[in-house]
Amino acid sequence: MNQGLFPVRVDPLKCLEQNADFSGSIAVSKLERLQGFLQDDSGEAQVEIHFGHDEQGIALLSGQCQAQVHMTCQRCMNPVAVELKHDFEVAIVVSDEKAKHLPKQYEPIICEGDSLELLPVIEDELILSLPMFAYHHECDDNELKAKEELAPVETEAPSNPFSVLEQLKK
Ligand SMILES: [Zn+2]
Repeated sequence: MNQGLFPVRVDPLKCLEQNADFSGSIAVSKLERLQGFLQDDSGEAQVEIHFGHDEQGIALLSGQCQAQVHMTCQRCMNPVAVELKHDFEVAIVVSDEKAKHLPKQYEPIICEGDSLELLPVIEDELILSLPMFAYHHECDDNELKAKEELAPVETEAPSNPFSVLEQLKK
């Protein structure tokens, strides 16, 4: 099993042949469509996927994605942490025509060539797993304080770029 960063694209036929597994993380900042539903682009998704076939020989991509993201609380409009966890199973087909013949329980992903972009697939699944509305259990002033804490803090980066060069020379 591959650990670390999640692969961007794979050869689906090869993966199916090998019953390949992948796992790793994807930064939320790389998932722009998902960000449209969120307060910020912090956090990362942990993803595990598996290529294989069902009993009928249908090519499947199954997996689980998990992420902690910040949505907007619909009561106080402050960020609220939301835990996403989603199991999915999609069928890999080579054409629209084939997709029409799939059993109803499977969502198709159409993959015509020897390259399958994984990030959009995972991103779709994460978007599907978002709650319709997010709320704090209790909205109060503490949430306002928490928001201040979330604000970017000045890091101790050297103010003078040349001092970095000085350090590099050592
Ligand atoms: Zn709230």
